[in-house]
Amino acid sequence: MSDDEPRPGPSTVAVHGGEPRVRPDRSLTTPVVHASAYPFESTAELREYMEGRRERPAEYGRYGNPTVERAEAKLAALEGGEAAVLMASGMAAITTTLLAMLKQGQHLVLTRDAYRKTRVLARQVLARYGVAVDIVEPTAQAVIEAMRDDTRVVLTEAPTNPYLRVLDLGAVVAEARRRRIKTIIDATFATPVNMRPLEHGVDLVIHSATKYLGGHNDLLAGVVVGRAPIVEAIREHLGITGAVLDPHNAYLLLRGLKTLALRVRQQNASAARLAELLAEHPAVARVWYPLHPSHPDHEVARRYLAGGGGVVSFELHGGLAAGTRLVDALQIPKLAPSLGGVESLVEQPALMSFYELSPAEREAIGIAEGLVRLSVGIEEPDDLEADLRRALDAVARPG
Ligand SMILES: *Cc1c(COP(=O)(O)O)cnc(C)c1O
Repeated sequence: MSDDEPRPGPSTVAVHGGEPRVRPDRSLTTPVVHASAYPFESTAELREYMEGRRERPAEYGRYGNPTVERAEAKLAALEGGEAAVLMASGMAAITTTLLAMLKQGQHLVLTRDAYRKTRVLARQVLARYGVAVDIVEPTAQAVIEAMRDDTRVVLTEAPTNPYLRVLDLGAVVAEARRRRIKTIIDATFATPVNMRPLEHGVDLVIHSATKYLGGHNDLLAGVVVGRAPIVEAIREHLGITGAVLDPHNAYLLLRGLKTLALRVRQQNASAARLAELLAEHPAVARVWYPLHPSHPDHEVARRYLAGGGGVVSFELHGGLAAGTRLVDALQIPKLAPSLGGVESLVEQPALMSFYELSPAEREAIGIAEGLVRLSVGIEEPDDLEADLRRALDAVARPG
């Protein structure tokens, strides 16, 4: 497509992006190729590939798969990136990327409000291999102040988990570029429907495709998107770590991706409505939703996000116990970790993701005891609102 043609919108890219107009087998959908190895015609053909006279095809399942490649092409198109590499989970993507980009003696900056296992990877695993780590407040200023001469990578989330903080990416990227530091955004919560970090100059976007991209709570996957040389360097490391995506899951992901924009826009609208209800309800002490005026990053969020996403976090008067009463009173959202799928899910981070920590440790990393995280699904908005209102009223009633 030439530059003066309008760029197709997210729904068009979600359905058609990365797909050939007509496939060799003419099927409308992507065939699932279950193969661990791919034979060559002859030694002469093999030599042509090995000597670089022809582009090398997949030869072994750990180095590539045609179904996975189609899903990668669609994800690259959705993020506006040159290349994408899919892996077996979001954590596989984060681990493989950081192993590929960091070495002993280098420094990593991570934001405090972050996926739990990302922080564990940095603090407990990378630190053992001689990578220095600083975990700072999720603000552009704190991230920039933490940059040192030996800093190689800055990793943050957009929006962050669970407080949905939104950093001024432009400011972070400008300073990182000046210092030749690579910036990586885990944009699992935003999705390319709400934000495309590569357009803000970020080097790599990572997703847990387990969440919105897959969208149906039926698969685990992770993806890294960016410029081809850096993505291919990470793919080389995937050949070593071996955390490849199964072709069947790649098919489920492709299928889920086609409705990504439909789902996310619905989830944006429903979550914004529930955030409004929560903000006004007497049982609620505080709401965290990036596009709600009460959020500390509201102004930045309005600049960077096309929608606030499907996750709303909040604290009730009455802390942990009140949160538990609410969670147990809700009839539509199920009590489960994860987020981003068609089913609404709810959890109390103090009782699930951060359970092993003491209240003091949770406080040190900023997880309030009474915090509730609601991931809004695609159920009827009226039903979701009525269910939440009824549960909040029950918690607010004394006795
Ligand atoms: C879930 C999640 C991950 C980890 O992804 P998996 O697919 O579960 O390995 C990483 N980052 C964020 C923001 C997540 O929500």
